[in-house]
Amino acid sequence: MLRIGLTGGIGSGKTTVADAFANHGVPVIDADIIAHELVEPGLPALESIVKAFGDNILDKKGHLKRNKLRELILVDEGKRRKLESILHPAIHNEIETRINQIHAAYCILVIPLLIETRLTDMVDKVLVVDVSKNTQIERVKNRGKLSEDEIQSIIGIQCSREERLKAANEIVTNEGTLEDLAIQIAHLHQKFQQFAST
Ligand code: ADP
Repeated sequence: MLRIGLTGGIGSGKTTVADAFANHGVPVIDADIIAHELVEPGLPALESIVKAFGDNILDKKGHLKRNKLRELILVDEGKRRKLESILHPAIHNEIETRINQIHAAYCILVIPLLIETRLTDMVDKVLVVDVSKNTQIERVKNRGKLSEDEIQSIIGIQCSREERLKAANEIVTNEGTLEDLAIQIAHLHQKFQQFAST
């Protein structure tokens, strides 16, 4: 099965693009969703995080304080690397497990840090969702969960737009309307189906 790695900066439109592929019946595996599921109470990844970051990274019910963790890793590269060393192998394994359960011409793997984590070997093609930094910031601000400072910090630790575009085999430009996006996805869907059958 052909693997398409879908990536892009925060707020570029990865989830929106993945949903559009799903509407064509394409299986989607999202590394962010897996990352959330892996840190449920009782799971080994959460235990490793507590060992590394201390008990106060948990709320009273034993759930991970995601905002607190994000604050810590945005200002401390060592902590960020530590978290990545816990999560990335587990995410990687889970992605492979899920791929083995799918039968389709191709699948979409949403991996936000595909280029940063050098996971490009995991996929056959890299599909980048591209937007300007201004659009990114506006859209994430509208989503309403992060401050502009936090958004800037996250953009700062992600790879640059240029690096991402250099790694791309296909590019979706998401500066226009959702209809514009849907047209691009319909074309790509045909292209990937054709490519998968050759
Ligand atoms: P990502 O998954 O890359 O962080 P999202 O798909 O969540 O990005 O998109 C970021 C925000 O921008 C969401 O609120 C989404 O609904 C909105 N959005 C995405 N594409 C468009 C578009 N073409 N026009 C308007 N809003 C968009």
